[in-house]
Amino acid sequence: MLDPDRNAIQGSACADPQRMLRRARRLRLFDSLGRVYDEFPDTKCENCARCCFESPGIFYIEYLHLLDLLARVSVQRREQLLRSALRELIFSWIDPGRACIFLESSRCTIYERRPLACRLFGLVPSREPDRAEAQARMAARQEARRLRLFGVEVPDAVVQRSLVSCDRVRDRRGRQVVVDGDAIAARLAKLDAALLPQQVIMEEFCFRSLPERLGAAALGDEAVEGMRIQLLRRAQQGEPVSDLLEVVRAQLRLPAARRQKKGRC
Ligand code: SF4
Ligand code: SF4
Repeated sequence: MLDPDRNAIQGSACADPQRMLRRARRLRLFDSLGRVYDEFPDTKCENCARCCFESPGIFYIEYLHLLDLLARVSVQRREQLLRSALRELIFSWIDPGRACIFLESSRCTIYERRPLACRLFGLVPSREPDRAEAQARMAARQEARRLRLFGVEVPDAVVQRSLVSCDRVRDRRGRQVVVDGDAIAARLAKLDAALLPQQVIMEEFCFRSLPERLGAAALGDEAVEGMRIQLLRRAQQGEPVSDLLEVVRAQLRLPAARRQKKGRC
């Protein structure tokens, strides 16, 4: 039988998130997602928040799950999160203090909805952690070199801050826990496949963060990239990030931010 929602995204650059959100609700995919999350063992760690230094990559179903959350919070809270997302999307490469948009006072404000990447962190030990860390830094250095070609200087603290694993996660009895991350990820991939053709998942919706997905859905990747380079340069020439964020909002045709306290954001 023809499925209008599914047909609508064939050949398109990007699925309509609101339509997909309605579809996910109708198919009760968030219940399935919740069941996967609920199977995780109860663990604790030192809550240092180092692994929350950026918004995590998320599956498409998790993107919709977070859009569902954004639809339920107050307008003020939504504005605040959107602002953080724009800030991360555009300025993260010059901001050594950047963090996941849901991290506040070293606490995860969406703990019950935190995505799979956060739940797996520390439960899938890296076979060669030093090598994985070195690869992550190398990728960051490559991006820093690319941005330098466009006149953007990436601070070393940004390049150095990646963290690929943690051995301080324990169950309630203090034992280290290991889960099969690939098998769990495959279950989420199946939920994505209920919404999108495989080709679209592979080409357009691979593991990206919420800010990246919001930017791509609103403007498209190329436009975001052009805007990012331009605004990073302006920020490094001294223009306040708070002013530049309003430029982004205008591009996205979002209403201007409510009046904030004076100063850099
Ligand atoms: S998992 Fe590790 S890095 Fe992340 S908050 Fe816990 S102790 Fe810190
Ligand atoms: S969603 Fe929560 S746990 Fe995950 S990176 Fe953000 S603040 Fe940390």
